[in-house]
Amino acid sequence: MIVLDGKKTSENIQLELTEEVAQIRQKGGKIPHLAAILVGNDGASETYVASKVKACERIGYGSSLIRLEASVSEAELLKQIDTLNANTDIDGFIVQLPLPKHIDEQKVIERISPEKDVDGFHPVSIGRMVLGLPGFLPATPAGIMELLERYKVETAGKHCVVIGRSHIVGSPMSILLARNAYPGNCTVTLCHSKTKHLKELCLQADIIIAALGKAEFLKADMVKEGAVVVDVGITRVASTETKSGWKLLGDVDYTKVAPKCSFITPVPGGVGPMTIASLLINTLKASKK
Ligand code: NAD
Repeated sequence: MIVLDGKKTSENIQLELTEEVAQIRQKGGKIPHLAAILVGNDGASETYVASKVKACERIGYGSSLIRLEASVSEAELLKQIDTLNANTDIDGFIVQLPLPKHIDEQKVIERISPEKDVDGFHPVSIGRMVLGLPGFLPATPAGIMELLERYKVETAGKHCVVIGRSHIVGSPMSILLARNAYPGNCTVTLCHSKTKHLKELCLQADIIIAALGKAEFLKADMVKEGAVVVDVGITRVASTETKSGWKLLGDVDYTKVAPKCSFITPVPGGVGPMTIASLLINTLKASKK
């Protein structure tokens, strides 16, 4: 069994990017600049945004964090997005999701200029991905593809079961793994909350992408010997073992599933750090445009 080490791979990517930024700086070129809008002070969102900003600082990008009150109006948030769209120093930006209930998330996503959509959630980015055109891939699926590629995981002709059909993870993952490229060329079964016989489908899978957000859902008796398992889930559960009082669990019952796998991602240290790496790659791409 080989652990797909997202933490180490993300660190390697960040070293490569640091090198590239240093060269850009030497030549007097434009230093990539990522901005993030954080609405409210949800604990998990704070942590995610902080690690994105920290990663930018580490590798020499410019970064800006715009904090807005949870009570901010939709109109005010859209105005902030317009300001970032118009700011030529900012190459790409993200609006950390989820947003408070009174704000229409889709409206917010669509207001971001597709040229600066480094999260890859805008309909233009999704459309370009579906058509196989160059553009920004959604950060988490792109990170998983990068991880599969760097570990040279065989995908052609494999049966891949994706559990979860969200717009940001499951659906794009199913499209990317089915495309005619490497990684890709899988036969993909996209499963969701209405899927029947999920266990039987999983048992047929060479590759399983678990992205449903239910802690330790995927059990050892749902996985065949030698399968590749990618765990996207992040659920915070109370814990007496940690100083913070909580720990992160994935969607996979890791200790029991891992011995059956050829490759598996841990949580934490698997897909999460790769999402950040993709965001940084997308920002560099945006700055080069
Ligand atoms: P979501 O809630 O938007 O979607 C969950 C999907 O799972 C839905 O399509 C639903 O139909 C499906 N589902 C729910 N219960 C199911 C069941 N019993 N059987 C089969 N399918 C079921 O979630 P999301 O935004 O895609 O996120 C999924 C998980 O991934 C969450 O834990 C989230 O925190 C995590 N996540 C991690 C990263 C990362 O960087 N590691 C990024 C994004 C999301």
